Amino acid sequence: MTRIRCPHCGHETAKIIYGIPQMTDQLQKDIDDHKVYLAGCERMIPPPSRYCFHCKQGVCYTFFPVEEMETTKVEFEIGGYFQGYKRLVVEGKDNSYFATYYPSHCEDILEKRITLTSDQYKKFVHKVYMSYIKEWDEFYDNRDILDGTSWQITITYGNYQREWSGNNVYPPSWNRFIKAINSLDLPTIK
Ligand SMILES: [Zn+2]
Repeated sequence: MTRIRCPHCGHETAKIIYGIPQMTDQLQKDIDDHKVYLAGCERMIPPPSRYCFHCKQGVCYTFFPVEEMETTKVEFEIGGYFQGYKRLVVEGKDNSYFATYYPSHCEDILEKRITLTSDQYKKFVHKVYMSYIKEWDEFYDNRDILDGTSWQITITYGNYQREWSGNNVYPPSWNRFIKAINSLDLPTIK
């Protein structure tokens, strides 16, 4: 069984069953073990795919058609004082789509820009949203570590812009985000 962790707190999440299922001993056991959550007939649009018993809320929303369609730019920067900052910008404008990797001052490589098809761009944006980024906190911080790694993400959609950032601390679904970032034919960001 795949473990899907809550994008907020990192605890394991439960499968959500909508409607009124037929109760069985197994189902009752799964509910008691917090593996299943009965959401009843109340249905939010778009519905969450998982329930976190720790946060006591639905999480892992997977369907954001409006924001996905309207997303025109994804920017990601990560690094630190000593190793420098590397940056990835993925943009869609007037039916042209491109991604640019800006190396840090410590890397011995040149800036690299690639063009994407509209399909590649849409897939990339979808993968970014599938890291449940919309459910992340806006800021993650650990002040005990000095000279560590900091990161910042900015997504532009329609007339809006949203930002997430952190110092030495990462959201629970960070790996999914990094996988999305590295899905393009550009230098790998760790
Ligand atoms: Zn949680």
